[in-house]
Amino acid sequence: MRCPVCKYDMVVVEYHNIELDYCNSCKGVWFDSEELELLLKSQGLEEPKAFFDGIFNSQKAVSPEKKRNCPICGHKMKKTAIGGQPEILIDICRDKHGLWFDGGEVTQLIRHLAGEHPPKRDSREQVISFLEEVFGAPG
Ligand SMILES: [Zn+2]
Ligand SMILES: [Zn+2]
Repeated sequence: MRCPVCKYDMVVVEYHNIELDYCNSCKGVWFDSEELELLLKSQGLEEPKAFFDGIFNSQKAVSPEKKRNCPICGHKMKKTAIGGQPEILIDICRDKHGLWFDGGEVTQLIRHLAGEHPPKRDSREQVISFLEEVFGAPG
């Protein structure tokens, strides 16, 4: 799969049977919907669907950032903000193929959510702790 930002081939990073596509050049991460669902299920999350619907149906964010094309279908993705304050912009495919995190956004997200509801094991935290383990961000 090609990186939606710089068009280099991405590498597959596998961790606990979950595969992510990672761009060595811009450090962006593509999270396939199926892989994200697998991850949430493997963590015993009760409602992976609610998590998805929440993200896919969220408001479109206004951003000067360039639009990215989905690496699967090639259509322009929608920008949406997750994480409240400060907002972290991610790109999502309207056909629910997956989520794109620009390089730096993963770390930003991890830092932001690390300070929030520490004892609560919710779906966002599961995703973040997984990314932390994969990319070795400070936790
Ligand atoms: Zn890239
Ligand atoms: Zn797509």
